[in-house]
Amino acid sequence: MRTPFIAGNWKMNTTVTEAEQLVSEMIEKLDEIEGVEKVICPPFVSLIAVNMMLRGSSIKLGAQNMYFETAGAYTGEISPLMLSELCEFVILGHSERRRYFGETDEIVNRKVKAALANRLKPILCVGEGLADNEAGKTKEVVHTQVMAGLQGVQPSHDLVVAYEPVWAIGTGKAASGKQAADTIGFIRDILAELWNRTIAQDVRILYGGSVTSANIAEFVSHPEIDGALVGGASLKAKEFVSIVKQTAEIKEKRSSQ
Ligand code: PEP
Repeated sequence: MRTPFIAGNWKMNTTVTEAEQLVSEMIEKLDEIEGVEKVICPPFVSLIAVNMMLRGSSIKLGAQNMYFETAGAYTGEISPLMLSELCEFVILGHSERRRYFGETDEIVNRKVKAALANRLKPILCVGEGLADNEAGKTKEVVHTQVMAGLQGVQPSHDLVVAYEPVWAIGTGKAASGKQAADTIGFIRDILAELWNRTIAQDVRILYGGSVTSANIAEFVSHPEIDGALVGGASLKAKEFVSIVKQTAEIKEKRSSQ
């Protein structure tokens, strides 16, 4: 049984003060929800403050990016070693990093290895753009990204994969539950081929792209979809709590059937 998983990616939003405010609005309600791994990923500058607020709660912390070197002359970068004192998770290979900051599959691969070597759990993002989707190349793109992102990576239950079609991120046009479940099933097959079926069955695979409280049920009702990586809707306490709550209820119902 895989524990359902919901992560909030706050992207480049919230000052430290606003981050503290947002955490205070959701912490109690989120903490009460059982049966889902709950992760929030604020900007780097808020990690220490949020880490302190989350102590003693069941909510976990993630970063949105990191560099692959441990320390050294890399002005402006944040290392996995630094993050390992504050966070359990790190989002890697988000499409915005690939698109605006030139992250290649090779860089993402180095980051995945560095994260695991520093006991950080990577949330590896993969997903096709609109043109590839329309050209029927979704599986081809996702296959390349997963294989390249995990090249030389030892099988690990700590990996989380997020399938995020680029055309669905921040657009309000989510994939359908069926589309997402098909691609996620395909990603699980890739993991089985690359590692083995046992590990592949343990790795959580999420959907991401315009998830809200109004559509989360469509995704988490599919047994293949273990949860969601939520962007915009994770910045609204009520929305995010509702997404987590619905996930807990739906997955609980399914597991008792
Ligand atoms: C994301 O940032 O990973 C994301 C899925 O964003 P949104 O939910 O806003 O589409």
